[in-house]
Amino acid sequence: MNQIELPPLAPELAASLADLYRRMEAAYDIVARQLDFSCRGCTDNCCDSYFLHHTKIEWAYLREGLGRLSAEEQARIRRRAHAYRLGAQKALAVGERPALNCPLLREDGLCGLYHYRLMICRMHGVPSSLTFPNGRVQRFPGCFRCQELTAGRSATPTVERAPLLRELARLEQSFAPVGQPRIKMTIADMILD
Ligand code: SF4
Ligand code: SF4
Repeated sequence: MNQIELPPLAPELAASLADLYRRMEAAYDIVARQLDFSCRGCTDNCCDSYFLHHTKIEWAYLREGLGRLSAEEQARIRRRAHAYRLGAQKALAVGERPALNCPLLREDGLCGLYHYRLMICRMHGVPSSLTFPNGRVQRFPGCFRCQELTAGRSATPTVERAPLLRELARLEQSFAPVGQPRIKMTIADMILD
C-alpha cells in the first residue's frame, strides 16, 4: 500500500490542469488530423497497456473525477482495481508485463473517467517527441495503427511533449512541493490508495 497522503486539490490548480489537458488534446488533434488518423474502427484496445504514473496532481484530479461517480460505480471500479492489482502482481512476479484492462475501462470500450484521464492516456496514439535541454530528442512512434499509417513517410508530424511536461511539472510543484516522496503508481493504485 502506498502511504502518501494527497493534499486537497485547490479549484484554481484543478482548473489549470484541466486547461493543460485541453491543450494536450488540441495538440494531439492537430497531428491526428494531419495524419488522417483516428481510433475509429480499431480492433485493439490500448487501455490494457501497463503504465506507471508519477504526478500527484494528476492522481488528485483523477480522484476528484472518481468522487463524482455514483457510489455503485465507484464500488464497481474499486473491485476492478483490486482485480487489476492482483493480476498485475502475478504477471510481474513471473517477469511479464501486465496486459490487463484498466479498471476505468467501461463495458462499452470507453473510458469511465474520460475528462479526468491522465496525460499518458491523452498522448497515446499519434507520434510524439520529447526534446531535452541538451538537445537530445526521444521519439515515440505512436500506436501500432499509427505506425502503419506513417510507415515510409519521410516527415511525420509529432506532438512535442517538452512544453506540456514542463507545465505539468510546474503544476505538480505547486500542488506537492519538492521534498515529498515520489510516486510510481498504476491507475489501480491511484484508485485504491
Ligand atoms: S490509440 Fe491506436 S491502438 Fe489505441 S485505440 Fe486508438 S487506434 Fe487503436
Ligand atoms: S484512464 Fe481511461 S483512457 Fe486511460 S487507460 Fe484507463 S480507461 Fe483507458
